Amino acid sequence: MKIIQTISGFFRNFLFTPLKRVFKGMGKKEELLKLPAPFVPDEEADSKQYEAHPSGAYMMLKMIFRDIGRYNAVIETLGRDFLTAMPKGAYKSRLGQIGFLHRRKHEELANPQVAAFIEEAHTHEKSNPKDWDDWDHANLREMEIMYRHHCQVDPELIERRARLGYEGRRVHSDVMKNNDWDTARPFLEDMISLTRRIAESKCLRDNEHESESPYQALMREYIPGFRIADIEKIFGQTRTKLDEILPQILEKQAAEKAPLPLKGPFPETQQMWLNKTLLRAIGFDFSRGGLYETGFNPVEGGTPEDTHLVIKAVNQNNFLISMKSTLHEGGHGLYVQGLPRDIWRYQPVGYDMGNAWHESQALMIEMILGRRREFFDYLAPRVEGLFQKFNDPSMTADNLYQLKTRVKKTADRKTADEVTYFYHINLRFELERKLFSGELEVKDLPDAWSAGLEEALGVTPENNMHGCLQDVHWFVGKFGYFPSYSLGHMIAAQVYTVMRKDIQNIPELLSEGNLIPVRDWLNHKVHKTGRLNRPGALMEEITGAPLSPGPLLAHLEERYLHNA
Ligand SMILES: [Zn+2]
Repeated sequence: MKIIQTISGFFRNFLFTPLKRVFKGMGKKEELLKLPAPFVPDEEADSKQYEAHPSGAYMMLKMIFRDIGRYNAVIETLGRDFLTAMPKGAYKSRLGQIGFLHRRKHEELANPQVAAFIEEAHTHEKSNPKDWDDWDHANLREMEIMYRHHCQVDPELIERRARLGYEGRRVHSDVMKNNDWDTARPFLEDMISLTRRIAESKCLRDNEHESESPYQALMREYIPGFRIADIEKIFGQTRTKLDEILPQILEKQAAEKAPLPLKGPFPETQQMWLNKTLLRAIGFDFSRGGLYETGFNPVEGGTPEDTHLVIKAVNQNNFLISMKSTLHEGGHGLYVQGLPRDIWRYQPVGYDMGNAWHESQALMIEMILGRRREFFDYLAPRVEGLFQKFNDPSMTADNLYQLKTRVKKTADRKTADEVTYFYHINLRFELERKLFSGELEVKDLPDAWSAGLEEALGVTPENNMHGCLQDVHWFVGKFGYFPSYSLGHMIAAQVYTVMRKDIQNIPELLSEGNLIPVRDWLNHKVHKTGRLNRPGALMEEITGAPLSPGPLLAHLEERYLHNA
């Protein structure tokens, strides 16, 4: 309870700081920009986006944010093309196009006129409450949050960061081929220095609190509603409990027969057929999205009508790797496709709830459900036939289940099991805070990484490729993102405690390969609510309690110690 109060307390304070004190140069009322009456596309005539509203300022805002949303959609499409289809020769011009669009989008949002409209709309909201329903209130609130988050940042920095982020995907892919720390180091230094300048412009101040830290400002972009201190507390409790149960789990599994390794090859065509079949089983709509392979790292995004799931080119020796990535991205995809954009297309209230909730939807499918024993009853006979591995003992449901639930201390996050995964996230959360507070310099990162991993899991990475170079996040400028994974895992476990009461035949559904009822439940509870609620309030509404690590820890004990 206390955590939620702290979050909403801070949120309330910064929201009530007058906009005039947040930025300079706000337009006066009589100078408000007048936009012509909007062109309403036929297919959206009934949407709330275009529904007339008595507040002229709010109508203006809806049109401005519609255009910001359209910029986002175009950027997403260009980004997907960058990863999957762009010829090498277009690399530099594409960086220019992407940087330009980011800058234009930012200029639309950070315009002082937007603040003037927000103030005027708030005045109308207070004096005419009957004209505002819950969705309109939430939409205006989210517009203001977006505005405050961005309004002080120089557009040139936004353009440079967008370019550098895409360059980072290529740099990361190159340095991973040769364990090339000498190239990575100056790149990361540039990225951190640029990101720090942006973060400093995003730091919020309010009446009662001092200015927040740059890392907090960055985290707000990905994990709205969470404070660093809340996460430290939750992660601290998690670490204490995991330190207790991890040795017990390892001891238990050491006494069991080890799973048999898979025997490839598993051809690409068959793997992609399997992955698409699994996406259909979870309810992904291929008429509004697709699955793609890339030489870069996996990514997901787009819009509800054009949702892209991009996985790394398949490994022919192990079909479980691309399957894991597909189930993970598929969970993200269900969230994107389920957002309320037929009604609130492009409006801030129609966006997702941030990355912790997004990861929760991915991990619900990939880990919470996708590693239940019953799922492998569905999978095993199909992959045995698909890959022509008849009577191969490594392809049985039991063996596949054991392969996916084997716990092992390793240096790699992406292949880590469900139990040790937290240690990898916690290490990154600690290191990136130090990089932004100045406590740690990039040149010392490899040693700090090795020491941190040694302390957490007693493992030393054999080189930087298996250490501080392994993730793409920092190369694309995503600092403050990593806690989303463990928070998402916790959210998923807590939401699952309610889901399994509401859908009592989940084991049977998994063994039949039919997750449509699960998708519909998640859609009803999470996806279609967009940003109507704040993240903490959504958790309370679904589960009746604030987020806590308890359900995740109980889930891990149940699955890995009691084999339930
Ligand atoms: Zn994810």
